Amino acid sequence: MLTNNLSNRILIIDLDVHQGNGTAEIFQNEQRVFTFSMHGAKNFPFRKEKSDLDIPLDDGTTDEIYLNLLKEALINVFKIHQPDFVFYLAGVDVLATDNLGKLALTKNGCKQRDIAVFEACLQHQIPIQVSMGGGYSPTIKTIVDAHCNTFRVARDLFY
Ligand SMILES: [Zn+2]
Repeated sequence: MLTNNLSNRILIIDLDVHQGNGTAEIFQNEQRVFTFSMHGAKNFPFRKEKSDLDIPLDDGTTDEIYLNLLKEALINVFKIHQPDFVFYLAGVDVLATDNLGKLALTKNGCKQRDIAVFEACLQHQIPIQVSMGGGYSPTIKTIVDAHCNTFRVARDLFY
């Protein structure tokens, strides 16, 4: 996208519970790509890379705190970087039920998270690409529901 001049200002929003360490490292010297990661401070990777914006969260972080931090960060990041394209990693390992993630979001909180990201893109008229991320809740249905919510919300907001 950058090479073909299809995009000049990319924003990567990584809300998987594990830090977006790969993209942070790959794009650390690429000014056209802004990496934003919100993740469990005590989740893997234990040695974090430096994203353009990292928000490490305490164990047991719940919906309200999470969503307030996210919404504030989205406002700031869109203002600072003014992206023309967004990549969104929508891991559902932020759920309280997750076996690996140390955060404590409800399924509805996870859905509200997706809504916040999509609404920011809609407000700024920025196209978005969504990738599913991790999900390690013991009940498969929980993972499937949370992933499906991402797409349900996108359908409701964009179509
Ligand atoms: Zn993960």
